[in-house]
Amino acid sequence: MRTKDDHLKNGQLKANYNIQFSTSNRVITHYSVERTSSDMATYIRHLEGFKERYNFYPKQVTADAGYGSEENYLFLEEKGIEGFVKYGSFYREHRRNFKTKEFANARNLHYDEKGDFYICPVGKKINRIGETKKTLRSGYIKETNIYEAADCKGCALMEPCLKQNSNKKTSTNRRIHRTPNLERLRAKARKLLLSEEGIRKRKQRSVDVEGCFGELKQNKGFRRLMLRGLKKVNIEVGLLAMSMNIAKLAKHKARTMDEVCPKTSKTTLFNRNNKSIAAKRG
Ligand code: SF4
Repeated sequence: MRTKDDHLKNGQLKANYNIQFSTSNRVITHYSVERTSSDMATYIRHLEGFKERYNFYPKQVTADAGYGSEENYLFLEEKGIEGFVKYGSFYREHRRNFKTKEFANARNLHYDEKGDFYICPVGKKINRIGETKKTLRSGYIKETNIYEAADCKGCALMEPCLKQNSNKKTSTNRRIHRTPNLERLRAKARKLLLSEEGIRKRKQRSVDVEGCFGELKQNKGFRRLMLRGLKKVNIEVGLLAMSMNIAKLAKHKARTMDEVCPKTSKTTLFNRNNKSIAAKRG
């Protein structure tokens, strides 16, 4: 993985385990350890692990853009889970100048659903020329439709338009790749994310789950696992999650006690070297 701790400042890849936490009100409810650098590929297994642990799927989930793939959205839909899950371009497409600055982006072009074609910025038709199927490592088959403009030679907008092509070097005409299923699922997610509940959940997510990682890495100084091997790391992360939950419970109890008997309650937090990092009431 490319990590944030880049001491040599050369962007080198390091061997890591990918740790996933599920939280509810800052309490860790589930965790998983993976050997892949992609968060996206861990999501379904993580939720299946949740189901194994509790015998049910959560009714709602909130996740950041690293999890917003067609396969993950479809899984949420099939399991009846309401997914407040962002996708890669969520913030970009809501920027004020997205429509003007990225006018040639396929999302800003007119798409005719009946005729199944796009209209380019100078008013020409971009027709469908074929489709591809790609089997992902997970076995999921991704179906994409391909559209291509007939002749872009001499067009004044060639530069910004062809910049949008995935293969900029070989394509001389504008090409668009469209995944209808993903577009439908993204539209569904977008609606949820922009609702009042969605805005509240997005704010809460950054405090809730990121707060757990912050507490672990920054406050407790836990930046390296002590064990190696998936089985042992699973145990180590499980113990960490339990200790964090117990600390939260103790803090909560101390706060409750403080309200009842202010003079007797005292909570002391320790980092991994057993040094007191905070001693406070409640
Ligand atoms: S480059 Fe091609 S697709 Fe783009 S605006 Fe010009 S004619 Fe249309």
